[in-house]
Amino acid sequence: MAYKCFSCGKNIKEEHIKKKVRCIYCGSKIIFKERSVGTKVLAR
Ligand SMILES: [Zn+2]
Repeated sequence: MAYKCFSCGKNIKEEHIKKKVRCIYCGSKIIFKERSVGTKVLAR
């Protein structure tokens, strides 16, 4: 699962935010899960 910083838009690995949810690049606390890009969309 990939995460993305809302502020600077950089990708953040899950291991980086296990201890504390914060962007390692800009320090933003707003991080969201990045949806898989370029892959099939699974229909429910
Ligand atoms: Zn950031």
